[in-house]
Amino acid sequence: MNNEFLERLICSKCGREYSPESNPLMCINKDKGRLDIVYNYSAVSQRLTRDELGRRETRGVWRYWELLPVSKEYAVSLGEGNTPLIKAERLAEKLRTKKLYLKDETRNPSSSFKDRAMTIGVSKAVEMRADTVVTASSGNAAAALAAYAARSGLRCVAFVPEDVAAGKVSQLLLYGARVFRVKQVEEGVDPTVQLMILTHEKLNWYTCPSFGPFNPYQVEGPKTMLYEIVEQLGWRIPDFIFVPTGSGCLITGLWKACMDLKNIGLMDEYPRLVLVQPTGNMPLVDALKRGLSFSEIRPTPYPHSVASGLLDPYPWDGDLALEAVRKTGGAGVAVSDEEIMNAVKMLAGLEGVFAEPSGAAGLAALLRLLDEGVVSPSDESVVLVTGSGLKEPEKIVRLYPETPLIEPSLEEVLKRI
Ligand SMILES: *Cc1c(COP(=O)(O)O)cnc(C)c1O
Ligand SMILES: [Zn+2]
Repeated sequence: MNNEFLERLICSKCGREYSPESNPLMCINKDKGRLDIVYNYSAVSQRLTRDELGRRETRGVWRYWELLPVSKEYAVSLGEGNTPLIKAERLAEKLRTKKLYLKDETRNPSSSFKDRAMTIGVSKAVEMRADTVVTASSGNAAAALAAYAARSGLRCVAFVPEDVAAGKVSQLLLYGARVFRVKQVEEGVDPTVQLMILTHEKLNWYTCPSFGPFNPYQVEGPKTMLYEIVEQLGWRIPDFIFVPTGSGCLITGLWKACMDLKNIGLMDEYPRLVLVQPTGNMPLVDALKRGLSFSEIRPTPYPHSVASGLLDPYPWDGDLALEAVRKTGGAGVAVSDEEIMNAVKMLAGLEGVFAEPSGAAGLAALLRLLDEGVVSPSDESVVLVTGSGLKEPEKIVRLYPETPLIEPSLEEVLKRI
């Protein structure tokens, strides 16, 4: 049984339509289109009003179940979402701006926003009676998938690149995922994605990476971040939202959420969505600057950055990511590793928020747009802090000299403080 508000799915490439009852994962035309989900907005608008939400006690992702593609009786939850929107006053003062908020997604169960996607992805797998969920990732998406798979008792398989850092797979292993490193045999094709598709075709494994063309359901989870922000602001729409971007799935979700709220009459203008990438992997920022369409984008040959969560060589959800920026009057910004690490330090030192580099890229972009005058001091900005610094402590330790060793005396402390 599906959520009664689901109407149909439409392939973003060929336009083919699917009924929700057929529970498709990918388009049968094998065109790598994303099966965008359409709801019965007039029915949802009857139900999901400001008053109704005001009365509702459920918090987090499942609070908004009418706009999610799984019936809530299948919900596999770890208490994801309902993250704080922190008014960043010290940071705002430092940046000489006034209204600045941090959406602290580090507080999610596996310490990144990917939990919002994977609670939906895994709940759908349970509804579809899958026994194995499979992903092509070594990072936060795989960790989140492994956590929800553990919670639901499903087997989780992760295909990771040959040269993956051992530290990154530790969280997956502890959640009980089966992890395989896959040899790179052909240049320009991602062998982990190839193998994931093959296991779906031959073994009927349920594909659940954090990009749309291989699983349309998980895309819907991150929408709830935007619903929460507008509710937390008392239904005020911020001027700018800063979005760290790799595959483009997160910004796609935020854009879908904007359209949802407009379709059901809960929002009448859009926040400007700012797409942020590192300079070592910036295909979408580049496309925005040069006015390219999605089909003109080629994979980055050697993506590199301290922001390991933003290194997808190909932006699978680039079509709606570009549309999100263009239709909301947003911007694309590329930030250097140095700017990113500076933002990591500012978040921790001025506001007590411990972010991983990918999670701090949004703040680096805000600094830049304030400098350039694109964002003015009276604008209200929300910076998404998408993942926790505890994911990659080795990158933080490198920033500092060795910790001083002192005699156990007060004089020494006072001498050095
Ligand atoms: C995955 C991830 C992103 C980017 O999300 P995409 O959907 O790939 O664009 C940003 N920050 C962190 C911490 C992530 O793990
Ligand atoms: Zn199609």
